[in-house]
Amino acid sequence: MSIADNIARIEERIQKACDVSGRKRSEITLMGVSKFEPVNKAEEAFRSGIRCFGESRVKEAVTKFENFRDEYPAALHLIGSLQRNKAKQAALFFDCVQSVDRLELIHELVKHSAGRETPLEILLELHTGEESKSGFSDFDGLFKAAQSVLESGNLKPLGLMTMAPFTADKDIIRSSFRRLVKAQGELEKRFPSCKMNGSWVCLSMGMSNDFETAVEEGSTMLRIGSLIFKE
Ligand SMILES: *Cc1c(COP(=O)(O)O)cnc(C)c1O
Repeated sequence: MSIADNIARIEERIQKACDVSGRKRSEITLMGVSKFEPVNKAEEAFRSGIRCFGESRVKEAVTKFENFRDEYPAALHLIGSLQRNKAKQAALFFDCVQSVDRLELIHELVKHSAGRETPLEILLELHTGEESKSGFSDFDGLFKAAQSVLESGNLKPLGLMTMAPFTADKDIIRSSFRRLVKAQGELEKRFPSCKMNGSWVCLSMGMSNDFETAVEEGSTMLRIGSLIFKE
């Protein structure tokens, strides 16, 4: 199976999940998670229609994507946890950091994105399942983070990200995604979306093993690695 074939199969499954839940395919971005993959595979995915890539490590992403975007206009998102000493490089290199999970990191990103031409886009990561460790652990922490992002001026919030527990139990996965949707609703109440300063509309949830459930629960961005890049 080629990458093009893999993507075609995934597209069919996304369309089915959209049909089941009365959603439009156009509301959803399919990200290619290219971590650990060589750059030629990302190029192949681009040629099959992928316009957004996710990487989990700053150094690896910089090495791989340094020249990529000159030829292949795609967005590049950081999806792995970000250490403070890499915040500067990340703030200058990525289009979006999805793994914003603590106030200290927001302050670092604000400081280092001052030199950018366009605001750094961010998602706030919420911890919604037992197995993953990253993300704000409660709504209160999330609200404080949202406030801090909105006051910063340099960062543009797009929405929320989460990782469901790795399990075959659909109910556990579903409740994890529902918690993210609930958080989005609360954020909208407290900090209504405004185009100029960003919004909370992006829900980055769903990976290779749970993306159909994520579509059914309202995901607007699927982060898929193995199903695209592995045989
Ligand atoms: C690796 C990774 C993915 C992709 O996982 P697959 O199961 O390979 O699709 C998505 N999101 C995050 C945060 C990841 O680290």
